[in-house]
Amino acid sequence: MADCIFCMINERKIPSTIVYEDDKVLAFNDINPVAPVHVVIIPKEHIANVNELTQENAAVLGDIHMAAKKIAAKLGVADKGYRLINNCGADAGQTVFHLHYHLIAGIKMGAKIV
Ligand code: AMP
Ligand code: ZN
Repeated sequence: MADCIFCMINERKIPSTIVYEDDKVLAFNDINPVAPVHVVIIPKEHIANVNELTQENAAVLGDIHMAAKKIAAKLGVADKGYRLINNCGADAGQTVFHLHYHLIAGIKMGAKIV
């Protein structure tokens, strides 16, 4: 997608600090971190959000979770814990419409919504 920020990061058209990459998934530090560890994990394929998942593309969710597990271990937060957060749509606060999961760690997290 030509005007998608995360596609541009994947294509190295705009800079980011990449922390993990494989053939399906890219992960980079969030530009506006809310915790000491705040990584954005995306599929390389452009999928706008969970609403756009299909039987054909949904396997990438497994790839994203496997990436999250590896990133948490690599950054030393696997044992202490982390949150994986997905915002889907306007009411959830999604601002970048390329499917992504936030991996947040490194602080004792406060109130939980669920
Ligand atoms: P969301 O609000 O769930 O759509 O999350 C979008 C996230 O993308 C926010 O946490 C932003 O800080 C982050 N973000 C936006 N632009 C960039 C960028 N160029 N590099 C890294 N993270 C970004
Ligand atoms: Zn995109």
